[in-house]
Amino acid sequence: MADLIENCLHSEGLMVSAGSEYRCPVCEVRLDLDGVERWVQDAERSRDEAYSMVEGDGFEEIVREELQREVYRRRRVMYELENVPRVVTAKPEMVLVIYDAVKASYGCRIFYKEPRPVGVVEQVSVGAVLERILELRSDPDPVVRLISEKVEEFHVFRSKLSEGGAPAPERRVFYASEL
Ligand SMILES: [Zn+2]
Repeated sequence: MADLIENCLHSEGLMVSAGSEYRCPVCEVRLDLDGVERWVQDAERSRDEAYSMVEGDGFEEIVREELQREVYRRRRVMYELENVPRVVTAKPEMVLVIYDAVKASYGCRIFYKEPRPVGVVEQVSVGAVLERILELRSDPDPVVRLISEKVEEFHVFRSKLSEGGAPAPERRVFYASEL
């Protein structure tokens, strides 16, 4: 499994994630734009290496074409990401925060009114430590900053209950009126 993830070709492309990161839905790797550029360059290097070899048989020709196609595919993914308009005014309709006791983290699902705006953050996860949660306050994405406030509110509420020995709820829904 580790190998599979390491060798992931991000064959389904990359999606806009929190802040200015891009996420592969298959292996969950997160890349910034430099990372995406390096990923394109890796494919270009493989292709160039194949082309620098001595003329071969038909099979090598097929391999080269395949590598060239991969270069085009990755470039297309990169250009599309660069052209995604970032909707900064999108306001979530609902936010669901779930505490994961195993990972000791909060997972947030962010829902928008349909039709859903393009390029918006739909998921955020953050360690269940106040420090980590507060770090999100300086995220360039306003929705992530908003999530930071809501997770902080829920985290403080849960911590108080736990200190008093009471069981703390593991999920909380924030509706538009609270956002
Ligand atoms: Zn991947």
